[in-house]
Amino acid sequence: MEFDKDKKWYNARIDPYHAFRMDPASLVFHYGQSIFDGMKAFYGVDGKIRTFRLTDYVKRFNRSARRLCMPEVDEDFFRETIRTLIRIDKDWIPKSKGTALYIRPCMIASEASLGVKVSSDYLCFVIACAVGAYYKEGFNPIKIWVTDEYTRAVKGGTGDVKTTCNYGGCLFAERKAAEMGYTQVMWLDAIERKYVEEIGTMNVFLVIDETIITPPLNGSILAGVTRDSVLKMAISLGYKVIEKNISIDEIIRSVEDGSLKEIFGSGTAAVISPIKELLYKGITYATYDGTRKNISKILFDEITALQYGEKKDSYGWTETV
Ligand SMILES: *Cc1c(COP(=O)(O)O)cnc(C)c1O
Repeated sequence: MEFDKDKKWYNARIDPYHAFRMDPASLVFHYGQSIFDGMKAFYGVDGKIRTFRLTDYVKRFNRSARRLCMPEVDEDFFRETIRTLIRIDKDWIPKSKGTALYIRPCMIASEASLGVKVSSDYLCFVIACAVGAYYKEGFNPIKIWVTDEYTRAVKGGTGDVKTTCNYGGCLFAERKAAEMGYTQVMWLDAIERKYVEEIGTMNVFLVIDETIITPPLNGSILAGVTRDSVLKMAISLGYKVIEKNISIDEIIRSVEDGSLKEIFGSGTAAVISPIKELLYKGITYATYDGTRKNISKILFDEITALQYGEKKDSYGWTETV
């Protein structure tokens, strides 16, 4: 759909996937006024198709729009649009466990102008694609590089919303991590380079002794829908859960004294991604014990059981399409 000041959102339609033409002076290409989100639809064991927390993703899309001075979408309309797209594309949804239809809404500034300003025109589109199982051979722990050189976001900036602007700047550190053989970067706070914020594009959780810890949403951390699901589910499963700042020094100490049991990331793509090794200031630390019953695996199994309709959803997170 398109937006201009007079007509507001107009011309909403679902077309076959196609390229579109844009003016090279479109503001999005120059000043990055652009947002996106990402969610999934699942083919369940009962043959029903389910969305997971669709309303929460749509609400976050609008929060991102407000922060980037973009027009909001009507939430009910947008939800229904996504549900309709899923229905139209239902034959493309892969059926085996772990696979999904990935849904990517975007909004971009389309006014042609070279001055830095809030665009008057926008384009909003939603694309979808089939995605394979994230874990093909079981739960696969990854290695991460803790960088105290590069940072992702600072309080007062845009780290807490899904705007395109946040991601290009992360690529350099991510490539550096990959060159060293590490899958992701662990981001520390931008001021003291001390407190853990995120892992790549995932939220971060630690299990120290029997407590699950995640940093609070302090303004530079993205409020992941999966993060929220992990918190709520962990509480209802009876785990002790706290949101607090945790420094990398504290983490290293807890690895050394054996109190650190697990570190994992959470996000829509992998749901839960366990971490097996940290590299910090040139020293590696092992952070995964595959011989114990990991909380990360329990949470992964519980969340995916809801997504694939294997268990009754008492949270009200899933909706059949
Ligand atoms: C999308 C994203 C997450 C995870 O959010 P989910 O809603 O769980 O997918 C975490 N951090 C960043 C920077 C992100 O862009």
